[in-house]
Amino acid sequence: MNLPGFTGGALDRADRVRHEPELLAAAVADPRARLLVLNGLDPELDEYDRLRWTNLAEATGELLFLGFEHGLPRFVSALPEGVRPPATRSPALFGMLERFTCEDAALYAAARSLVDWHARHGFCAVCGTPADIFRAGWGRKCPHCHAEHFPRVDPVVIMLAELGERVLLGRQPSWPKGRYSALAGFLEVGESIEGAVMREIEEEAGVRVRGVRYIASQPWPFPSSLMMACIGVADDERIEIDVHELEDARWFTRDQVCRALAGDADAGFIAPPRYAIAHTLLTAWAEGL
Ligand SMILES: [Zn+2]
Repeated sequence: MNLPGFTGGALDRADRVRHEPELLAAAVADPRARLLVLNGLDPELDEYDRLRWTNLAEATGELLFLGFEHGLPRFVSALPEGVRPPATRSPALFGMLERFTCEDAALYAAARSLVDWHARHGFCAVCGTPADIFRAGWGRKCPHCHAEHFPRVDPVVIMLAELGERVLLGRQPSWPKGRYSALAGFLEVGESIEGAVMREIEEEAGVRVRGVRYIASQPWPFPSSLMMACIGVADDERIEIDVHELEDARWFTRDQVCRALAGDADAGFIAPPRYAIAHTLLTAWAEGL
């Protein structure tokens, strides 16, 4: 199984630094400290397709401490006060995701989600007072009611239903022509991962599954999801799609999946991109996990 996209980086998040002002001051003062270059929320890549870094003096907002990478202090700047993050992902970003190293993708995911969260959560959710950044950027604290707020993570289940040597995939109308992928949906409060997998597959495709098994997870920083990939065993092959969610859903054979993952144009569908955990999930299933 390949490593899921946005995972496996070399970042030491160094929680101790977030709690010790002297350690944070030393990291800021370190001449090797670098600031991640972002264009809005998009990264900038150098001629080697690596993330670009600059001096901390270039920050246009508060410094957020990402951690140490190979011993080097890494920071990112919050967006300037009052600047809203873009509502949609830029088309250029997808091209960059294909070129990223695993290490850079993982670090960028953390930085992007953190910057985005601060830009959209400037006020205390309890009393509405502007909240201050604390813990070196990993939270906000209200100066009025003292409530503490932390960057949110939105759990999403993404899953395959299997039926013998076949697997259920679906497509949304907005996807590139021919692309089929695993079904997915947000976990709801009070719900287990297994329960969400069973509910989502039945809601979207009318397929009942049982025996849900966990395969892998990945952060998905658009803006702050955690994708949890699972496989469930279907009761039977009947499909009844929810047309509000899916354009189509169908069963594909193991041979078709292997060929699609290998880029075969005659596989019957186009596999999801390598940086998406659906690709990891399909690979795992094809390998019999
Ligand atoms: Zn408050």
